[in-house]
Formats: sequence, C-alpha cells, structure tokens
Amino acid sequence: MVAIEADEVSKRYGTETALDRVDLTVEEGETFGFLGPNGAGKSTFINILLDFVKPSEGSVGIFGHDCQADGTVARERIGVLPEGYSVFDRLTGRQHIEYAMRSKGADADPSEILDRVGILEDADRLASDYSKGMAQRMVLGMALVGEPDLLLLDEPSTGLDPNGAAEMRQILREENERGATIFFSSHILEQVEAVCDRVGILQDGELVAVDTIEGLRESLGGGTKLVITLDHLENGVLDTVRTVRGVETAVSNEDSTLEVTCTNDAKMDILVELHDAGVDVVNFRTEEASLEDMFIEYTGRQR
Ligand code: ADP
Ligand code: MG
Repeated sequence: MVAIEADEVSKRYGTETALDRVDLTVEEGETFGFLGPNGAGKSTFINILLDFVKPSEGSVGIFGHDCQADGTVARERIGVLPEGYSVFDRLTGRQHIEYAMRSKGADADPSEILDRVGILEDADRLASDYSKGMAQRMVLGMALVGEPDLLLLDEPSTGLDPNGAAEMRQILREENERGATIFFSSHILEQVEAVCDRVGILQDGELVAVDTIEGLRESLGGGTKLVITLDHLENGVLDTVRTVRGVETAVSNEDSTLEVTCTNDAKMDILVELHDAGVDVVNFRTEEASLEDMFIEYTGRQR
C-alpha cells in the first residue's frame, strides 16, 4: 500500500514558489528522508500533508485519503512532530503525553514513552522549563502515542546533541521495525544517511532527486572521490584531470591536493594521465563519496 502520494503539488506565496510540481510516492514500511537546505520547501510539504497549508495546485494523500478533502481520516493514522511546536506552559511532560493519548483516543503507558524518549526523570516538571532538546524529545514521545502507521517528523533532531540525535534515530529504526512508515525532513545529511531506505532531495521547491543512497552514489558516476597529493601544484593539472573519461568534478586545494569525483574505472586512468603529463604524485587515497558530496553536487547543479 502507498503511504504518501503527492501528485504535482505546488505552493505559491505571492510570487514566491515554495513548492514546484512535486511528485512523490512513499510506500508503506519505508523510512524516507526528505532532504534539502533551509528554505527548500520541506516544512511546506509536510504542512500540506497535515492540512495546515493548502496546496496551490495538485493533491496529496495518506494511505489513500486525500489530505485536504479527507484530512481527518488521513490524520488518524499519523504521529506528528511538527516544526516549531509550542509546548503548553502549564503542563508537565507527562501531561503532554496524556494529552496526546486523549486526543488520539489511545491507550499507552506515559512512563514507558517518557522513558523511551529519555525524559522520564523530568516527566513531572513543567514543559516550559524544558531545554529545546528536552521539548523535542517530549514532542517525539507525543508522536509515538498510539503506535501510528506513519510518523511525519519535521527536522526531528533540532536541538538534540549528537547522542540525542543517535537515540532519536534508534527510535525511528524501532518504529520502522514495528511496521511504521517514517517520513522525516532534515537539512543535516548524516541524519538521513544513517536510517533511510530512500531519500528525496528538495531544492528551491523542486524535487531534484529521489533514490536510495546507493542509487544516488551510482548516478553520480559511482561516487568515488579520489584525493591526490602532488609535489606541487602546476598550471593545467586540473585540465589534465578533467580530460579523463569518467571524471565528474575536479578541484585543487591550497595544500597541493586534488579532489576528484569520478567513476570507479576512471581512478587508474587519472593517475596514468598525470604520470604521462609529468606530474609528480606523492600520494593518493580514495573515499566513498558521502551524502554530503552528493547533496552539494545535486543542489549546486540546480543553481
Ligand atoms: P524548509 O522547511 O525547507 O526550510 P519552508 O517550507 O519553510 O522550507 O519554506 C519554503 C519557502 O517558502 C521559503 O522561501 C519560505 O520563505 C517560504 N514560505 C514558507 N511559509 C511561508 C508563508 N507562510 N508565507 C510566505 N512565504 C512562506
Ligand atoms: Mg522547515
């Protein structure tokens, strides 16, 4: 079954286009990372799914229910961590979880959820006294209430330190193993790389790529990064490298290193070409292209 279906969704604010004809299908059981720099349109898309925002064109559905026409039904099966959730000043963490239970008509053990998100010790303090990270954990706890079929999380690692972010990812893995579909946005690449089956890259409102991490690597020419240390940097070295078949990008650094992204097959050819051109190679190593390299490649290409 399809969990999320977006059909040519656009959103304009005056002359500003926040989303531009986004087509996307997320299957039930997937962990999908929605990636893009600030202002790309991630929250706009999530807010359309939640019917906080109406699309200018196109439609979105959750488990076959149109989010605008049939929004209440669509929302019943979702756990949400929205952008910039404001806590109730007079409620404790525990009371927030209880509030989520009442509004979803769900039965749960608040202590168990509070423990799971790591704020059990602070459960009876007012949420207004929580740090940003604690509030974020609490809202994640609220999203987990009632074992939702879909978790929609807008930048869930906001305010969390690296340990907190790792704990959050662990919870997402557990939820996915339980059978939940996970859709979460992030502008931080490692968050997505570590847990997602597939990612979509949003840039200026356009979905510029949707693929597995592996698939993205392959479409970027095998995604190998070759770092070559030269004795010294001469004019024309980059041009020499760029003539080699399979080279995607080549840049030089101040410390006489070259960074080349290329196909796997091109690596030896580059070294041979440099040798033939009389360039002194001191050292070389290969790195797997990180999602960050890919991200820059994709978002840079569009500009
Ligand atoms: P992201 O979540 O990826 O950072 P947003 O969806 O918040 O991006 O924003 C996408 C674009 O839409 C931005 O240029 C933003 O300024 C604009 N935008 C978002 N909400 C509004 C609004 N209510 N009014 C006008 N412009 C908006
Ligand atoms: Mg946002």
